[in-house]
Amino acid sequence: MQGLRCQVCIVSPASRTASGYLFLATRPRDATPPDWPEGVLTWQPPLCLDCAATAVERCPHLLKHGAVAIRARVPRLYGVVGTLYTTGADLRPVPVVVSDEAKDVPLPYKDHLLRPWFLASQLVRELRGVSVVDLEREIATARL
Ligand SMILES: [Zn+2]
Repeated sequence: MQGLRCQVCIVSPASRTASGYLFLATRPRDATPPDWPEGVLTWQPPLCLDCAATAVERCPHLLKHGAVAIRARVPRLYGVVGTLYTTGADLRPVPVVVSDEAKDVPLPYKDHLLRPWFLASQLVRELRGVSVVDLEREIATARL
């Protein structure tokens, strides 16, 4: 995620065109904001075109919820997801039990001073300058 390399094959840089880096997403299950996916937060790294084609055919999550191909011109680092800890009775860190909704809420870098006991597991990027693209057309164009 940090180097914007493909999340599947890792050796390839993510696909990038004038419209930006290629990400795959699913539409939110709750009310979709009218400007979605502008400003969406993701901890799924971008992909190269070949791996994106494979992912939409084989990824169970994408098959179940429907893949949306997104290009983002400005995928800026936003923060992290991980586990929040508090100080236990013996002064050792103890994981904080959070609700399912709060479990996947990213911690923005701007708030890191408020959460000194946070074990990050994945980087999060905020996708700006976003457009939804036709993945099949992009793959066909790339093969010409
Ligand atoms: Zn790849």
